[in-house]
Amino acid sequence: MTDRKAVLDKLDKKLHNSEMANKFFKGQPTETEVIDVGDTVMCDDCSEDYTNNDLATGGLLFQSKAICPKCQEKWEELARKYNEEKYILARCPVGMSFKDFVLQIRGDNHFIKITTSKGGRKS
Ligand SMILES: [Zn+2]
Repeated sequence: MTDRKAVLDKLDKKLHNSEMANKFFKGQPTETEVIDVGDTVMCDDCSEDYTNNDLATGGLLFQSKAICPKCQEKWEELARKYNEEKYILARCPVGMSFKDFVLQIRGDNHFIKITTSKGGRKS
């Protein structure tokens, strides 16, 4: 069974490292980590569980982080503020639930792949 808290801590650390790396170590080697998250859908910011929530709509994908509708505005603002809008890889289409949005991105792949690289390159 996946320890969700540990996964989140890892994600946070990875993302933090990534942002720091992009700011201070441009062009350094990339690093990739893969984490199995099963079919759980939860916000990588506030940790709210959306696995059984078909109603909430909105949210976005920031790098490998799934950001829920409630946290979306804050992340949009931060992305603008730090000029990191390029890390917003997708936004939930109108009328689609956050849960479906995340599951669609994830597809059959239950693994989150985190790549630390220059310029937010997709892998
Ligand atoms: Zn959230």
